[in-house]
Amino acid sequence: MCGIVGYIGYEQAAPFLLHGLEKLEYRGYDSAGICLNDGSELIVKKAKGKLEELEKLTDYGKNIHGTVGIGHTRWATHGEPSDVNAHPHLSDSCRFAVVHNGIIENYLQLKEYLTAKGVTFRSKTDTEVIAQLIEYYYQGDLIDTVIKVLSKLDGSYALGVISKENPDEIIAVRKESPLIIGIGENENYIASDVPAILSKTRRIYRLENNEIAILRRDSIRIINTDKDEVRKEEETIQWDIDAAEKGGYEHFMFKEIMEQPKALHDTVNPRIKDGRIVLDEIKLTKEQLRQYRKINILACGSAYHVGVVAKYVFEKMLRIPVEADLASEFRYRDPIVDDKTLTIVISQSGETADTKEAMKEAQRRGSHVISIVNVVGSAIATESDEVIYTWAGPEIAVATTKAYSTQLAVVYLLAIYFAEMLGTITDAEYQYYLKELEALPDKIQEILDHEENIQYLASQLFHSRDVFFIGRNIDYALSLEGSLKLKEISYIHSEAYAAGELKHGTISLIEEGTLVIALATHEPLIAKTISNIEEVQTRGAYVLCLACENHQEVGSVAQSTIFIPQTCDMMLPSLAVIPLQLFAYYVASLKGCDIDKPRNLAKSVTVE
Ligand code: GLU
Repeated sequence: MCGIVGYIGYEQAAPFLLHGLEKLEYRGYDSAGICLNDGSELIVKKAKGKLEELEKLTDYGKNIHGTVGIGHTRWATHGEPSDVNAHPHLSDSCRFAVVHNGIIENYLQLKEYLTAKGVTFRSKTDTEVIAQLIEYYYQGDLIDTVIKVLSKLDGSYALGVISKENPDEIIAVRKESPLIIGIGENENYIASDVPAILSKTRRIYRLENNEIAILRRDSIRIINTDKDEVRKEEETIQWDIDAAEKGGYEHFMFKEIMEQPKALHDTVNPRIKDGRIVLDEIKLTKEQLRQYRKINILACGSAYHVGVVAKYVFEKMLRIPVEADLASEFRYRDPIVDDKTLTIVISQSGETADTKEAMKEAQRRGSHVISIVNVVGSAIATESDEVIYTWAGPEIAVATTKAYSTQLAVVYLLAIYFAEMLGTITDAEYQYYLKELEALPDKIQEILDHEENIQYLASQLFHSRDVFFIGRNIDYALSLEGSLKLKEISYIHSEAYAAGELKHGTISLIEEGTLVIALATHEPLIAKTISNIEEVQTRGAYVLCLACENHQEVGSVAQSTIFIPQTCDMMLPSLAVIPLQLFAYYVASLKGCDIDKPRNLAKSVTVE
């Protein structure tokens, strides 16, 4: 999820490693560390918190020696941010060191296996199993050992490995997490992202999945897991550092929109094993679950909008009444919540003040709390009774995209999981929903691959003064997020309305040319929404409609229509939100707004 850097050459490695980590700081992290081979031992220094802590600990790289080393900034997924959980991780007898970005999905199994063989673990991370497995299987050839270890790992990883025995080699591997190799003169580098090495070189190789790079001071070999040589095209980076930080895009928000297929995959896949959802985090038994008379969802902002989608999803799937509540309102209204209420709180940062206090209020009243949080070890994550992490990776743009999407994915996981426990869905439905959930990343990618259509629509409509988003049922829930996304970054006045509610007042605001964005994905109510589209059109509105590709008839109603792939009803918001995010992004970009840092807003709202 976060940063890797590595150096092999004739200079002291530490100053460069610290510099490289500094250049990756923009990605967000919770701890950092470096490991060097000093000629006889592997020396590790790591520290929780800002890179400054590590810089002080190493006297700015002066008190740790060696010409080969690896460094890491961590964004915790398994185990709280702490000195010991920070990377690099050493094997039991300190012969091997590993840095890792990503998630090892089967780490618990591997950890149990190794513990039974007498291996002692120091950290709570998934990563440590890699270092321990290398030592466990090592018989003199590090490359063979790494290949063997890779065959045991499920999940996503970019890895950097160094060993005590071999001070002349770094091994780097990639699967589903980015890793590049920097090409230098008498020195070579690895990094998870270009900015880390730009001060040294612009010549790189991009590793593909399952490729292994063996770096020496004067050579780089790249092989596959069958040990065949892989011929790589060298690439020359043309970007400046600012563009490089954003993966070549103009804004973090766009980069994060593009990262959504991976973020969903990372959040969902580790929790599906052999065709079943496995939520080790949830300890609730079937009997406990059956006792709940109500589900209470507490959140603020976009996370609250996830809660509104969740209301439709849980009620349909579980047949339990659900209330989605704004955390800042819930706290002050003497809510009816007790031990028969299951509370779900949602927060990207895990530090949102109102959400945290609302959660405590629910707990005081005897309610069991499950949190859905992106930041490991945050206040809400640690103080809730159970936590499911979203694993979206750090989100930098103030306007959320990938956190919203992964929160939705966790809602679906929970809904399917609980529905099976309560027996409210059949096994065939269970399989169907799971299949649709696993297919979401590819379908999102399909929409992203045609993003220029949305850019064109934005160029036609960015002058709008007022916008109305309308929809029914789950489309209404989504309209809340579509509207917020547009107004928060483009500063265009926008409102979300339940489509059937317009005629009770709001329709008087529709004038010639007013933009109405109609969400018509929810199949059972398409005809009703079409009527509402016609109502506003007769009053002069310009209607941009969003519909599923199997309902082409909607295209003949609105002035413009965006089609999205089909999926099961409850998961449609995951697909439909993508064009809405892109639309907001392009409108804001055409208006020249400060997209990543909209005026008056903060990323994590820690005031009440
Ligand atoms: N899953 C690993 C951990 O929690 C790696 C996190 C990262 O990519 O920074 O330590």
